[in-house]
Amino acid sequence: MSKKKYRVLVGQIFQETHGFSPVPTTMRAFEVDPASTMIDTQRQSDSTLGGIIRTLEAAGVTLVPSIAARARCGGKVTNEAYAEISAAIVAAAEAAEVDAIALDLHGCMQTQALDSAERDLLLRLRAVVGPSLPIVAGFDLHAHATSEMLALLDFGSAYKTNPHADAAQTGARVADRLLAMLHTGERPTGYFLRLPMLTSGNDETGTGPLHAIHAAARTAIANDADLVDYSLFNVNPFIDGPAVGQGILVYGAGDEGAAHAARLANTLAQAVWQARTAFVHTLPTIDEVVARHPRSAQAVTIGDFGDRVLAGAPGDSVYILDRILAMGDRHVTIIVTDPDAYERCAAAGEGAALDITLGASLTPGLTPTTASGRVKRLGDGSFTNRGQFMKGGVLRLGPHAVLEGDNFIALITLDAVMSQDPGCYLDAGVTLDGADIIVVKSGYHFKLAFQDYGSCVIAETPGLTGFAPETLPFMHCRPIYPLDAVTPKIEARRLTRG
Ligand SMILES: [Zn+2]
Repeated sequence: MSKKKYRVLVGQIFQETHGFSPVPTTMRAFEVDPASTMIDTQRQSDSTLGGIIRTLEAAGVTLVPSIAARARCGGKVTNEAYAEISAAIVAAAEAAEVDAIALDLHGCMQTQALDSAERDLLLRLRAVVGPSLPIVAGFDLHAHATSEMLALLDFGSAYKTNPHADAAQTGARVADRLLAMLHTGERPTGYFLRLPMLTSGNDETGTGPLHAIHAAARTAIANDADLVDYSLFNVNPFIDGPAVGQGILVYGAGDEGAAHAARLANTLAQAVWQARTAFVHTLPTIDEVVARHPRSAQAVTIGDFGDRVLAGAPGDSVYILDRILAMGDRHVTIIVTDPDAYERCAAAGEGAALDITLGASLTPGLTPTTASGRVKRLGDGSFTNRGQFMKGGVLRLGPHAVLEGDNFIALITLDAVMSQDPGCYLDAGVTLDGADIIVVKSGYHFKLAFQDYGSCVIAETPGLTGFAPETLPFMHCRPIYPLDAVTPKIEARRLTRG
């Protein structure tokens, strides 16, 4: 092994875009660690960046920090916010002599001007460091993985679990591959193909069709020393772009490994395509959820599927609150984005009683409710994730008010807030002990943390993040199943840099 002390630039730019949301993502939505603090802040995080940092430091690598910036899912990132964050990474690459670059990217970030912000970032980094300096990245498996973007990398790898429990392992995997590249000078060969196919949900990896397909992929990798890694990108279905669909990426080592990678990519793609009709989710209505869960000592946490902030919705729906309060005997704890309601609570002050109109101020077609309560608390700042998904990670809560009524507690926020973790409630001063119904704006990830409080279910609700592709104005990904008659050509192509 070489004794050389390597220098690796590290950075994070992480946002999943809902391309059809009416609310743009501004700089205010980003949680930013500048170069001076990002290593210390992220070292303990269970993010991809945390995994990268720990693995590279353990190998004696000198880390060159740039910026770590992450925002909740939401509308397209403003050109200004992307320019500011990406400039910090590009400037760090210009300023420092480095041997490689390792990035934590969501992979599905669009700006007002760009279909793939990550491709733009990698193009600009290549312009600085040239075509041969190793660049690696870890991705969310919902990344908008275009072959043009992936070809700019020497290695990229996505989470293998949904809900995402392996971000840090993904970072470690990417860093290990980078270390191997630095020590041997050899690069794996990537084969990629995109299936023009939207799933209709049912795309968790612990059950359903993806469970078996991931198992087959893991077995293939484990039994073939020439294969390096696989990724299955179930691209976020709420953007329009050329790679929307399903992406399959496999890396192999050497000539033999390249041939095996192509073969495995085609095999996995066949399996995904053949399972297309099995990707159908049927969710219970709120009335059915309540009927199936009699009131008990344990809470029921309901994922508001149609208004998932984690998939980019504004988080302004009060549909579940309204439905359950209309039924009578349940207490509801809910988080809701509502700038006007927040301002009214802030103006009234802590302890004030007021009647307000709540919710449905951002998403077209939703219905607001009226709420009477007392402003229990006003606050600002961040919250810390307690659960397995991004444990230890700090996310923005922002200006917020806690309004308490007879049979509800509403955490009213100025901006959309990720609520997959109890930390958003707890750090706002909302206790969940003894809670009855807890509403979160998440479809999958909340189960990893809220299971500590009782049952976790997702319900069919209105909003921007239900699976109804026929209602979205897709253009750049057509033709695509199930909107169009399509027979995909299953032939993985080698990733090559021009
Ligand atoms: Zn994801």
